Amino acid sequence: MVADSALTVVLVYPELLGTYGDRGNAVALRRRADARGLDCHLVEAAVRDPLPRTGDVYLVGGGEDAAMLLAWEGLRSGHRLQDAVDAGAACFGVCAGFQLLSREFTGPDGEPHEGLGLLDVRCGRLDGPRAVGEVLADSDHGFLTGFENHQGDAHLGAGTAPLGRLVRGVGNGDGRTEGAVQGRVLASYLHGPVLVRNDGLADRLLELVTGPLAPFRDPAVLRLRQERRAAALSRPGARHPHLRRRSSHRP
Ligand code: GLN
Repeated sequence: MVADSALTVVLVYPELLGTYGDRGNAVALRRRADARGLDCHLVEAAVRDPLPRTGDVYLVGGGEDAAMLLAWEGLRSGHRLQDAVDAGAACFGVCAGFQLLSREFTGPDGEPHEGLGLLDVRCGRLDGPRAVGEVLADSDHGFLTGFENHQGDAHLGAGTAPLGRLVRGVGNGDGRTEGAVQGRVLASYLHGPVLVRNDGLADRLLELVTGPLAPFRDPAVLRLRQERRAAALSRPGARHPHLRRRSSHRP
C-alpha cells in the first residue's frame, strides 16, 4: 500500500511491449489517480535499464512474438517483478505480458519457455487460427471489453482465478474464461487499451495499492463502454471457429 499520496506506475519495456497501444493503460491509471487527488508518476523502464524497484503498479503490455522473447530475456535477469509484488506492488499483464507472467509459455517456435511464474498459468498455442476481434466478458469489476490479437491461450492452475467469464471472443481459449488473477497480479488477453475501456478494472488495480477510492465516473468512458459492448455482441458467440475445432479434437 502506498505510504503517501504519490503513486508510481512502471511501464515495462514500452519499446518492445507497446505494439498494441497498451501504453494507454498507464495513462488511464494516471488519469484515474489524478481524479482522486493522488499524485501519480509514470516511469518507463527501457529493456537495457534495470527495472525500478519502487513501483506501485507494473504494466507489462502486449507485443509480437520476437519482441516478446527479447522482453523475456530482460525480465529474467536483474530485479525480479516477483520481488516487487512480494513487497506490495500490483502487476498487470496484457497478452504477451500475460504469457510472460505465467509459469510456462509456448514460444512461436513451438517450444516451451519458463515464464516469470507470477501466475499459476500455462500458456500454450490456440489450435485454430489467430484470435482476432472484439471480446466481451463479465467480471467482478463490471463487464470487460477489449480487442484480442493472439495465438497464445491460457490454462489456469489451481492458484489462479479467471479475471472474467467470456461472453464473446476467444480470451483464454477454453470457451469460458478470460484472463487471470492471483493476488495482486492480474492479466488479460484484452487490448483496447483495456484499462481505458474498463474503468472498474483500472480502479481495481489502483485500489490494490491505495486501498478504497472514491467513485469516479468519466462520461466519455461510459459512452465508449456501451459502444464497444455493442460491437462485441455483434461478433458470433459460442460457434467461434476455435471452439468448434477444440471440441472436435477433445470430445
Ligand atoms: N505474440 C503473442 C501471441 O500471439 C502475444 C500477442 C499480443 O501481445 N497481442 O500470442
